[in-house]
Amino acid sequence: MISGVAVIVVLVSVCSASLYPLKHLTAVTALSVVYLLAVVVVSAVWGFWLGVATAVLSAVAFNFFHLPPVGRFTIADSRNWVALAAFFIAAVATSSVSEFGRRRAVDAESGRAEADLTAEMARLMLGSAGVADALAVIGRRLAVVFGLPWTMIVLGEAHYGARQRSIALCAGDRRLGTLLIPADLPEAVVDRVRERVVPALTAVLELALERERLVAEAVQTEGLRRSDAVKTAVLRAVSHDLRSPVTAMVTAGEAVRAPQLTPAERDELGSLVVQEGTRLGRLIDDLLDLSKIEAHSAAPHLRECSVEEVIDAALAAQPDDAELRLRIDPQLAAVRADFVQVERALANLLENAIRYSNGEPATIRAVPAGDRVIIRVIDRGPGIPKSERDRIFEPFYRSPGQSSDPHTGSGLGLAIAKGFVEASGGSIWVESTAGQGSAFVVDLPAAREGD
Ligand code: ADP
Repeated sequence: MISGVAVIVVLVSVCSASLYPLKHLTAVTALSVVYLLAVVVVSAVWGFWLGVATAVLSAVAFNFFHLPPVGRFTIADSRNWVALAAFFIAAVATSSVSEFGRRRAVDAESGRAEADLTAEMARLMLGSAGVADALAVIGRRLAVVFGLPWTMIVLGEAHYGARQRSIALCAGDRRLGTLLIPADLPEAVVDRVRERVVPALTAVLELALERERLVAEAVQTEGLRRSDAVKTAVLRAVSHDLRSPVTAMVTAGEAVRAPQLTPAERDELGSLVVQEGTRLGRLIDDLLDLSKIEAHSAAPHLRECSVEEVIDAALAAQPDDAELRLRIDPQLAAVRADFVQVERALANLLENAIRYSNGEPATIRAVPAGDRVIIRVIDRGPGIPKSERDRIFEPFYRSPGQSSDPHTGSGLGLAIAKGFVEASGGSIWVESTAGQGSAFVVDLPAAREGD
């Protein structure tokens, strides 16, 4: 407004000055048209009333500087009154036409901003962020587009006090949410918000809530399906994997009682009982770990752990004759993880690397990667086909050729490794080239100061 007034004074002064050189070219009354330029500019930018003010000031300046007697506000020739009145009417008419154009432009601009807002509302609500997060952003955008000090959108019903006014967002009888706006807004603005925003906002909110419900339902169904699959697999393991060592132990136990056994045979049967008993114990441990992971009750004890120490502990669980190479970057930071769980995960990976690499040495490498630490367990085994790279991390999954081999594991090792690594905030995956070997990669967060 103040800048508008300053511009009026400047423009009218410029117009008045520019008439002096033109005076000898034509009749002075005809020159009043120059002031119309100032009226058009001011009313197009600042609106009708400042346009009228420009017309008034122009008429006064034209009279004072150019209509005889010059330098006074009186007019000698009565025909000049007619010229001045005609100028004033033309200026006011010009101002209202400019104002009309200006309003159309402003309306078009705000219509475009509102259409953009509607599109953005749909994008945010149906995008990946949750509905509550999207509503917070939409609330801020809505305030900007409508030039309001603030607005807030909350789920369900809300009344925050006398300084807020709430507009219900309802789909039929169902209250979905509430739009809160300042209580002191002019009624026209409130009506505009009600008309232009509320219907679209309610429609996208309804869609987003419905989508959230369906996603939750799908997650629940997937959870049930998975736990059902795990239960079936546990039953299969119990009926087969647990049964075979028990059968072997019972048979060996009965055989050991035979009187005609030589000490060597008795010794062999004893070793068989110990071996099968150890396998059984391991399987029971695996099943217990898996059930904890599935039930999300394997709560990790996160603390700063030296990678070297975790790897050493995992190596200690391997057979003495296993050939292993170790490459640990000397700059390596500690990780923030559950020591025992990560040790168990690495031990499972090492066990597989030794088992599948046909006597070739396996390698463990640990390197820093920004604020993460990457540990690779590499073997020169048969590799893993692409189609199996995700499935091998599923509980009880064994490659088709191995499920009948009684000496392979139960298919729990990688599922447990994945569960434990993820519990420490890490991730695990496999990189493999068929026929050349595999690298199981564990990515863990590095410890920060104060961990
Ligand atoms: P298992 O105890 O049967 O080895 P795991 O969960 O450890 O169970 O592994 C699942 C399957 O992944 C294995 O049956 C095997 O087919 C495949 N696998 C795991 N590690 C390797 C490896 N290093 N090289 C090739 N295949 C592997």
